[in-house]
Amino acid sequence: MTASALVLFSGGQDSTVCLAWTLSRFARVETVGFDYGQRHATELAARPRILAQLRTLRAEWNERLGSDHLLPLDVLKSIGGSALTDDMTIEIGESGLPTSFVPGRNILFLTTAAALGYRRGIADLVGGMCETDFSGYPDCRDETVQATARALSLGLARDVRVHTPLMRIDKAATWKLAEELGGAALVDMIVEDSVTCYEGDRSVRHDWGYGCGKCPACELRAAGYEKYRAT
Ligand code: ZN
Repeated sequence: MTASALVLFSGGQDSTVCLAWTLSRFARVETVGFDYGQRHATELAARPRILAQLRTLRAEWNERLGSDHLLPLDVLKSIGGSALTDDMTIEIGESGLPTSFVPGRNILFLTTAAALGYRRGIADLVGGMCETDFSGYPDCRDETVQATARALSLGLARDVRVHTPLMRIDKAATWKLAEELGGAALVDMIVEDSVTCYEGDRSVRHDWGYGCGKCPACELRAAGYEKYRAT
């Protein structure tokens, strides 16, 4: 078993599954979250809740789970112009990308995580980037992620590996992976505690969890859950 890994952990469904995946493969697992001035802080609020729950699901996960880090990246809020940081409607913008696109976000996350990993003696990063269901975000593409890993390896003069267990699977398969990793208990915990909704809505509980049910993130999550339940 490889020694240690650092998981980019937002408190959303995808990064929660990535964290369970990492806890099943690495002896020591640290987590990092980013406060970039998200309009809704419900995702960040879910992080400690999910970490505490994961500790109760498997004894070895509790042993492997190490420090959690939260880094401020409010430069993204200062730059603004995204529906995730500013009060804007989520729609397809002039660029052909959804207005929820935050330019450079994943590259900045990976760079910051690699710098933290450098200090923590961790070369393996894990992120929930996915190009299957992706909303057209170019920084979720495998090519972008692996090119960033290569640039970081060169720039830090040591290996930086980025693992993306969800890169080639759809949302239904992500639910299935959660079941394989942590059984029904993990699926239930993701439904109950993870936040995907762009509006940060926790007022209505659906089969697939809390959310407005209307934003693109909720639609993806709901459709994936339905497909997962049907198979
Ligand atoms: Zn929503």
